Amino acid sequence: MQGMTTTEPLQVSSGPAPAWDDTFWTSRLSGRARSMTASAIREILKITQQPDVISFAGGLPAPELFPMDAVKAAFDSVMTHYGPAALQYSTTEGHPPLREWIARQSGIPARNVQIMTGSQQGLDLLGKVLISEGDVVLVESPTYLGALQSFQPYLPRYVQVPTDNEGIDVDALEAVLKATPAKLLYAVPNFQNPTGRTLSLERRQRLVELTRRHGVTVIEDDPYGKLRFTGSELPSLYQLALEQAGGDPDRVHVIYSSSFSKTLVPGLRDAWVQAATPVIQKLIQAKQGADLHTPTLNQMLVSELLEDTLPRQIEIVKKVYGERAQHMLSQIAEHFPKGADYTTPEGGMFLWVTLPEGLNTVTLLSEAVERKVAYVPGSPFFALGGGENTLRLSYSSAAPEQIERGIKALGETFQAALG
Ligand code: PMP
Repeated sequence: MQGMTTTEPLQVSSGPAPAWDDTFWTSRLSGRARSMTASAIREILKITQQPDVISFAGGLPAPELFPMDAVKAAFDSVMTHYGPAALQYSTTEGHPPLREWIARQSGIPARNVQIMTGSQQGLDLLGKVLISEGDVVLVESPTYLGALQSFQPYLPRYVQVPTDNEGIDVDALEAVLKATPAKLLYAVPNFQNPTGRTLSLERRQRLVELTRRHGVTVIEDDPYGKLRFTGSELPSLYQLALEQAGGDPDRVHVIYSSSFSKTLVPGLRDAWVQAATPVIQKLIQAKQGADLHTPTLNQMLVSELLEDTLPRQIEIVKKVYGERAQHMLSQIAEHFPKGADYTTPEGGMFLWVTLPEGLNTVTLLSEAVERKVAYVPGSPFFALGGGENTLRLSYSSAAPEQIERGIKALGETFQAALG
């Protein structure tokens, strides 16, 4: 650097500047980034967000049910009680009272609970710590699109396991496990997104047994489990595996993920993962790299709402979603053409419609939007394609009158397509 003065321009490169064209960034993105795709749902939601369109597309919790006064009061109480600590950095593992409360619900130590910034972060970080390129990840067919998006950058090889009205077909699962050295199974056993289906008790037991025998880790994603409006509660895969492991959370091959998004409010982004200690330790390291910790204030707010507001809120949400589901089902029975099959959810926010083979719900969506109603086509929920004749309907944030008009318009759309 001898002879260089500060007035001399810095020569970064002696060659010609690279050509600037539309592919400039494409060639500079990582292989991982190139494997990511825009959420089909987000793209579709853009066209369905016209104000006069009744949308059953979004999976939004009903905002009119949010416990606004309780959150305001909790905010005041947290700021008064904790002072600046509410706004300070905090530990990666999570706010101790919140971790301890979650741990108590499952009868495990707090060290087996990791707080996450939304269960979506839990899925991403689980993908990061568990999936190596080419690992076989078994997914339900169809499955939660957001999980596919989270796992995709870690370059798994997906294998689809068929499902029916009782959830994953465990005979098919057994055949897949025998034929394929799988690493992971991702499942949503309660009121699945997108189908609304619930895995039966017998199948839960067999799934836990089969995966344990084949050495396959299970990620159980359960954001909707508390929102059961009919039928009786079933044990989680995690609970069953914990029992099998003699109550030792460090010998459980199921990783459980859940969230306060659907039971309380989604915007606070408070969720958690329960897992064996070695997995939690890796998640802590991964989370340090991702966001250091979930916002301190939000964790304190949720902690403040656990005893009174949360159980009350769950009762309110279950009642309203149950009524809305029932109303949508009765309207479907009245207006959908024969040959349209649909699920009857016992909880959660979604139901799933299968139209006769040959109909394409992506094509039909523009006709539905012309009739001022929208849904999500089913095909993006299939890891390896398929389901062109399927669609997801969300009833959680639809008023009765919207359900009546919207389902009638959908029935007309499908009837016209059938000719
Ligand atoms: N898993 C499933 C099955 C979901 O439906 C959702 C929300 N749509 C999530 C995870 C993510 O939820 P959150 O990040 O708000 O906890």
